[in-house]
Amino acid sequence: MLRVAVVGSGPSGCYTAQSLVQLSPGVHVDVLDRLPCPYGLVRYGVAPDHEKIKSLQSTLRTVLEHERVRFLGGVPVGPGGVPTARLRELYDAVVYCVGAATDRRLGIPGEDLPGSWSATEFVSWYSAHPDAADDGFLSGARSAVVVGVGNVAVDVTRMLVRGAAELRGTDMPQAALDALAAGRVTDVHMVGRRGPSQARFTTKELRELGSLPDTAVVVDPAELALDPAYRDPSGLPAPQRRNVEVLRGWAEEPRREAARRIRLRFFLRPVELLADGAHVGAVRFERTAPDGHGGVTGTGRHEEIGAELVLRSVGYRGVPLEGLPFDDVTGTVPHRAGRVLRDGAVAPGEYVAGWIKRGPTGVIGTNRPCAKETVASLLADVAAMERREASADPLDALRAEGVEPVEWAGWRAIERAEAELGASLGRSVVKLPDWVSLLAAARTADGGADTAAARTADG
Ligand SMILES: Cc1cc2nc3c(=O)[nH]c(=O)nc-3n(C[C@H](O)[C@H](O)[C@H](O)COP(=O)(O)OP(=O)(O)OC[C@H]3O[C@@H](n4cnc5c(N)ncnc54)[C@H](O)[C@@H]3O)c2cc1C
Repeated sequence: MLRVAVVGSGPSGCYTAQSLVQLSPGVHVDVLDRLPCPYGLVRYGVAPDHEKIKSLQSTLRTVLEHERVRFLGGVPVGPGGVPTARLRELYDAVVYCVGAATDRRLGIPGEDLPGSWSATEFVSWYSAHPDAADDGFLSGARSAVVVGVGNVAVDVTRMLVRGAAELRGTDMPQAALDALAAGRVTDVHMVGRRGPSQARFTTKELRELGSLPDTAVVVDPAELALDPAYRDPSGLPAPQRRNVEVLRGWAEEPRREAARRIRLRFFLRPVELLADGAHVGAVRFERTAPDGHGGVTGTGRHEEIGAELVLRSVGYRGVPLEGLPFDDVTGTVPHRAGRVLRDGAVAPGEYVAGWIKRGPTGVIGTNRPCAKETVASLLADVAAMERREASADPLDALRAEGVEPVEWAGWRAIERAEAELGASLGRSVVKLPDWVSLLAAARTADGGADTAAARTADG
């Protein structure tokens, strides 16, 4: 028997477990996650109103319910949890699928003023991540600036203007729904430092902004035309050309009145967040211009946009995990085809997949071939692998060392509690937003520890 620990139950962890059990009949996989709930950013990142993408959870669920896969939630690996070195002692191989959990910073004055947040903080709040703080994101805000023009920027923009009536049917936590319902944001400025043909949002997500109730999308044709590829998109790859066409459609539409406006702005680089009293009151931008080499250069001309709420969405970054090598430049773990490299040499039995392997790019499905590559490397190494005692269950050792995982039955109990909470609020499923209620719900699972029995009972 081959025992593999997969650290992280997001898409890359689940796809890794899936490939392992599909390709190796003798493998047993424990999927550990620091959270009591599985699915990583599919649960805690994908916007709640994107139900179709959210439903990928049911595909990932079949992996975690496989008879040779065990979900061990609430088990952090690293400081305060199971040391990476201990994991290596317990398992024949360990695959790290820990994602890229932190935001890139703007590195400009005023970035930490009250009212300025990373998109992750805002996303975590409306996604009910148990580490999220409810810091009154919307209180007093009428105008918001979203820095960045990727899909996460589009998500947070949409959540700011989508009415509570439409969000009621989602699993968004009640406090976030109430706050959005009481919110008074009327103008969201989504701002990119480069031109419209270089924006990273995808056309589907962009187009959706134009279909939000009582919301107008405002673009400035003269600003769009600063981009040579907007004026002549014939040389653009198809996805960017489609984006440009959507923007051109809005530019040519007659202006319509609406309660809320999304203003898409380009060629503006944030240089400072300005305070109004103790709080952010505006963002100062420098106008940029194409530099002729695909980048932009500053023009020395400035513009201020008033905003009581600033959400920074300029990309994600991996965080180092104690005991694992880390490349500070790329924010990833150095690897060769998924094999972890220590000082340039392959570290036996250690692997990576997903965002921590290749950086925060691609869609959920991109993690599948990424995981497959890693699993192919792992299985090719098996013959030479130093093997652990086959009869020793690592979970017994972990329990003896004080680890109390939330197993599948515990997660199922959380799901039931979320369905009950939803019913009590006249909604469908509503997520539990904090550690106390998640762990209390998990503890109601019969026996808690007998995963196999619980699976059978749950069907
Ligand atoms: C806000 C947002 C919205 C997105 N929306 C979409 C979308 O609509 N469609 C789409 O295709 N893609 C979307 N993506 C991209 C998609 O979510 C990623 O491609 C995918 O989640 C990456 O998978 P992963 O498994 O590498 O990381 P993650 O999904 O981040 O999973 C990592 C897991 O590791 C766990 N973990 C981390 N550290 C430890 C530790 N030390 N010990 C134990 N466990 C640990 C975490 O709790 C987490 O469960 C979105 C991303 C973001 C940030």
